[in-house]
This record gives sequence, structure tokens and C-alpha cells, in this order.
Amino acid sequence: MVDGDSAAPSLSVVAPCFNEAEIVGAFLVRMSAAAEAAAGGDFDIILVDDGSTDGTWPIMAAAAAADPRIVAIRLRRNFGHQMAVLAGLRAARGARVLLIDADLQDPPELVGPMMSQMNGGADVVYGRRVERVGETVFKRGSAALFYRLLRRLSSVDIPVDAGDFRLMTRRVVDLLVALPEQHRFTRGLVSWIGGRQEPIDYVREARFAGATKYPLAKMLRFALDALTSFSIKPLRLATWLGFAAAGLALMLMGYSAVQWARGHVVDGWTSLFIAVTTLSAVQLVVLGILGEYVGRLVIESKHRPHYIVDAVISARGLNAAAPLMPLPGVAMALPGLTLPAGPASS
Ligand code: UDP
Ligand code: MG
Repeated sequence: MVDGDSAAPSLSVVAPCFNEAEIVGAFLVRMSAAAEAAAGGDFDIILVDDGSTDGTWPIMAAAAAADPRIVAIRLRRNFGHQMAVLAGLRAARGARVLLIDADLQDPPELVGPMMSQMNGGADVVYGRRVERVGETVFKRGSAALFYRLLRRLSSVDIPVDAGDFRLMTRRVVDLLVALPEQHRFTRGLVSWIGGRQEPIDYVREARFAGATKYPLAKMLRFALDALTSFSIKPLRLATWLGFAAAGLALMLMGYSAVQWARGHVVDGWTSLFIAVTTLSAVQLVVLGILGEYVGRLVIESKHRPHYIVDAVISARGLNAAAPLMPLPGVAMALPGLTLPAGPASS
């Protein structure tokens, strides 16, 4: 619409999938029905297989070959949720784009109310989780804590209790995919872009099937990406700790002077030991924080592509304005042609 492409649908749905063989089918049924109701048939669904090792790809590929409204994109390996999201957004041509998890934790039926709300002029309508069903106390607690910490540390107004589930205008998506950074915290980047961003409340359901693809280690990395992408305040911590340590050192100096005057000079092993261990711990922490930023700088400086596309199955051409980083040997399949055999499509 905005980009002048008359063939662009009014709604594109983007869903990343990693080992979701038990879910893709059910997701497509519910999502298609919801999109049909919200956009009257004028929609497409872009499924991104983020290097699944189960039967996700064959199911997606078959769906895309049978239904011209479905596009299946296979990444060459697991590049991570945020990269899969980027690949999907680059391929989306709709005037509006819905970003949604494939595991049915985000209700597809909310797309209707989101579309209506956007008619009121919003650039982004994001899902705000008023309740989270079937998630552990730890996940809920750590998420609540993390989003509040991020909000305090960041100068960007990132809403709490919101994931990536959101409806965006074409303009927002164009701006989003143009951001070159490697460590992508999509929900934060969308906030950074600005404009009218409105919440819509929903209950986050339990997973339809399967287990979370965000184990603790991945969750921590994601949290660190978010913090380092949106705040350099932790770096300033070193300065404050330095001042605090200097203050402490002054007090200790006074104390040792008094002890010396009293002739107790061999006393104080305990305080010396505590001071040495505390200060070395502080130094290691500060070094670690520095390392988090420097490491990310190294990765950013390499300018590698965000992901590699292995195969695309679609009845239509891809978004010419935002090519999917075509690489030699990439399979482009059209309905009627045989499906490319993905490395793990058994
Ligand atoms: N996902 C992905 N790549 C990954 C991890 C997850 O594409 O490396 C997808 C996953 O299939 C799902 C969405 O991202 O559609 C959200 O992941 P998940 O449901 O496991 O996260 P949670 O809801 O538990 O935070
Ligand atoms: Mg989930």
C-alpha cells in the first residue's frame, strides 16, 4: 500500500518456528481463520523455520505449496528467534504486519481487535500480557523483574509485560528491518522507532504443545542483549564502584593511622583480607560487564549477514524491496515443483 505495491496484501502474518512440528498445523488453521475474519482473505502468512531438526519444515513446505497465501522460509541453521523474526519481516509485504509466536501462546484471534485499534491511527498495537497461564513462577517473576530493570536502565520507553506479539504498519516494519544491528531486541527496537504505540490487553495462554525453546541460558543471553543494546549505564557502574572504593579506602587509611598511633600495627589481618577479596571481586565484575559490551562490539564489527536463507516456498515472488539475502545455491521453489530437500527434512 504505502510502498505502492498493488499486489501487496493488507495483512501479513509473520511467525517464527523452531521445532514446532506438533503446532504448525494447528497454528495455520487458527491463524488463517482469524486473518480471514480480520482482513477478508487479503492476507498472507510467512512461516520461518529457524533450523528445526524435527518435522517442522516438511509440514510448512507442504502447506506453502498447497496454499498461495502461505510462504515458507527455511533458515540454514538455528539463528535464534530474533533472526527468524527479521527474516520473516523482510519477506512480509503486507500494508500491516502481525508478528506472532507459532506456539499459540499469543491468541491469533486478537488480530481483529488489533486491526480495528490500528484504524484509529496507531502505528503499533502491541499485546500486553495481563495474565500468563501455564508459565512457571520463575519465568513470570524473572520476566517481571527484568522488564522493570530494563525500563530503569534504558532511555527508550520499552513497555513492561509485552513480548514481540504486535501489529505494525508498513512504515514501522520498513524502519525496523533497516536497522543494521546484530543483537536484535525487536520489541525494544520498535519502541525506539517511536510513533503512536498502543497496548491491547490479553491473556497469554499456555503453550499449545511442546516445550519452550527458551531455556534459561538462552533467556539470560536475550536479557543481556536487551540490556547492552539499550543501556550503557552498567558501564557507568565501574565509575560509581570506583568512587565507593576510594571512599572506603580513605576510611581504612584513617583507621590504620589510628591503629598505628596506638601501636596495634600487626592487627587487622581480617580487614585487610576482606578488603583485598572484595576489591578483586568488584574488579572482576566490572571487567565482566566491560567484556559483555566489547564482545558485542566485535560481533557487530564483522558485519556478517543476520542469517542465511536455505529455501523459500511461495506461490508469489518475494518482496523485491527487501531481498532475503539471496545466496548461491538457494532453492526457490514454486507450487508444482518438487520441494527442496532440507538437510533435516526427514
Ligand atoms: N523460536 C525460534 N528460534 C529459537 C527459539 C524460538 O524461532 O531459537 C520461536 C518458537 O518456535 C516460538 C517463538 O520463537 O514460535 C517463541 O519461542 P518460545 O515459545 O519457545 O518462547 P517462550 O514463549 O517460552 O518465551
Ligand atoms: Mg512460547
